[in-house]
Amino acid sequence: MASFDLNRTAGSPPRISFEFFPPKSADMEGQLWSAVGDLGTWNPDFVSVTYGAGGTTRAPTLSTVRRLIADTGLSTAAHLTCVSATKDEVHQVVEEFKAAGVRHFVALRGDPPEGVGKAYAPHPGGYANAAELVAGLRQIGDFEISVSAYPEKHPESPDAAADIDMLKRKVDNGATRALTQFFFDNDIFARYLDRVRAAGITIPIVPGIMPIQNLTQLKRFAAMCGASIPARLDERFACLDEQPARRAEVSADVAAEQIAELSRRGLDEFHLYTMNRAPLVAATFERLGFRRAGASGQAAGAAA
Ligand code: FAD
Repeated sequence: MASFDLNRTAGSPPRISFEFFPPKSADMEGQLWSAVGDLGTWNPDFVSVTYGAGGTTRAPTLSTVRRLIADTGLSTAAHLTCVSATKDEVHQVVEEFKAAGVRHFVALRGDPPEGVGKAYAPHPGGYANAAELVAGLRQIGDFEISVSAYPEKHPESPDAAADIDMLKRKVDNGATRALTQFFFDNDIFARYLDRVRAAGITIPIVPGIMPIQNLTQLKRFAAMCGASIPARLDERFACLDEQPARRAEVSADVAAEQIAELSRRGLDEFHLYTMNRAPLVAATFERLGFRRAGASGQAAGAAA
């Protein structure tokens, strides 16, 4: 197993958060809550629950968020999009989340109901983009508001400058943290962070880390999101199609190496795309020397 020097000072453990999605079947329901049970022991700063594409899963997101808050005590953020909804409808959803105990939103524009890549048309009575949604949320309550950020730019952005300009608008309207799209080249993230800081944006930009469950599927998804997959990953996973155990080890190595390298660059907060599965995330953290919260409730995540 590789060994990583996180180059961290004692007492400054990395902060972690986990993203889950609402289950669509009984089997997936079991998988989600098993993952939550395991990953909750890594003492995340918060967990978040996605909102369905095209604004489709308000009810499943709400019930997942409700159960997380009621049963686990984990600080829980609700993703929220403004797709196909009037401002009043969005406000009603916000009130429902608020009543469930939500104090943290991940505010997004969302993708068109016709699918990623199709032209986005805001609802005539709705919020046009995430920046407007953030402003609307700010008027409703004193929420923590996270937003998206795109180290390789959003596919709809004409250029990187327009993308950072949108991030700035979201921050100016009240966003307190940005969670990035996943990426695998830390140099791309570093250059992006430089440009973000040069634009006067000072909120935390939290790297989104995607442990690779299946490289072939990820490539299809990444192509739609505008995220690149370095050729070196093809080499790492070459000839492993029939070796799931070895493949999982390589995936954990890759994610751990990425986090360790970002840590050495001074990053101390990471958002993990869990895909509702714990083993790969746990194997990644074990490689990094992170600790689960002890029975005494001692903070996990410290790495010497
Ligand atoms: P915005 O921040 O409003 O815009 C993103 C970028 O697109 C901007 O930088 C802007 O430059 C460009 N842009 C937007 N509109 C236009 C336009 N009309 N013309 C030119 N450029 C434009 N989707 C879901 O459905 N549910 C989720 O729960 C969810 N969670 C996510 C979590 C994270 C951390 C991330 C990174 C993405 C998530 N998404 C989710 C995907 C997201 O909804 C899509 O990427 C969507 O296309 C953009 O939403 P946004 O909030 O990033 O948009």
